[in-house]
Amino acid sequence: MSIGGKMKSRRRPYAEQRPQELGGGVWSVPVPIPGNPLGYTLVYAIDSPRGPVLVDAGWNHPEAWEALSGGLAALGLDVGAVSGVVVTHFHPDHAGLAGQVRQASGAWIAMHESDAALVRLMNEVAAGEQAAFQADMLRRAGADPGEARQAMGERPAPPAPPDRELRDGDLIDLPGRKLRAVHTPGHTPGHICLHLEDADRLFTGDHVLPDITPHIGIYPYDRDDVDPLNDFLESLDRVSDLGPLDALPAHEWIFPDVATRAAEIRHHHEEKLERLRALLVQRPQPLTIWEVAAMMTWNRPWDDLAPVLRGMAAGEAAAHLRALEARGQVRRVPGVDAVRFQALDS
Ligand SMILES: [Zn+2]
Repeated sequence: MSIGGKMKSRRRPYAEQRPQELGGGVWSVPVPIPGNPLGYTLVYAIDSPRGPVLVDAGWNHPEAWEALSGGLAALGLDVGAVSGVVVTHFHPDHAGLAGQVRQASGAWIAMHESDAALVRLMNEVAAGEQAAFQADMLRRAGADPGEARQAMGERPAPPAPPDRELRDGDLIDLPGRKLRAVHTPGHTPGHICLHLEDADRLFTGDHVLPDITPHIGIYPYDRDDVDPLNDFLESLDRVSDLGPLDALPAHEWIFPDVATRAAEIRHHHEEKLERLRALLVQRPQPLTIWEVAAMMTWNRPWDDLAPVLRGMAAGEAAAHLRALEARGQVRRVPGVDAVRFQALDS
């Protein structure tokens, strides 16, 4: 999740969440994310003659498994009867438990082909290789070496590889219903929303949440062959174009009119881009990604941000710099040690 987002009082702790029947053959089960301020993932179950299909599965942890299997049971559903798990994106609070559900039920796991490729990569790369890669990425972003070591944090086990790969527009295997994958890259390259077309509902994953905004970062930070923030903004427009559907997000709470919220998030990022451009114009010397991140506004002062959060903030700063570069407002200055960025006159 974004550390640039704000938190309001409407967010309730996991302890106050309950499994719910939402009508129309759809249920929600809150699944805790132990030790994470986000609290919980909302896993949705959709009725099907072959057994329920889940949208996301939750974090891979014994407490989360208890909550998922127990929550389904409380609703009269059996985790052993689940016929499929559609994962909105590969992150561990969404895909983490999919493998265990498959083991318990024989369900298929489906995700977008771009995230499936990342999952394959995560399962192939050795831990030592991954650490060296990250240390190099942090050095090029201008982090000091001690800070860089701490910023890497611990990595959860990679998610289970899927059995089925989805593309934009694909219908999910859900007899009698129309559930369509809508590719919404940005938060991850293969993020999908799922449009339940026969009920005007959109499962939004992390793409559109009612109060916070998802983390949009670039990894490694200095890549110039992708533009995830621009992808995200275009994905928000895609969702707005679907109309005022009811949104069933993976965190926080269910809300009406996804189109209005998507437009609001787009506006928030356009403002953030404009503020960053103005900051860079005031500081005309080339700056590292780390220096830029330290200048930007986060939900707490830079000096109080834990190293892992600084690493995420740098990823977001990098995504905003890349978007400004693609718009011709910023140029990158390659260097032997670190890459730097500088505002262009416009
Ligand atoms: Zn996520």
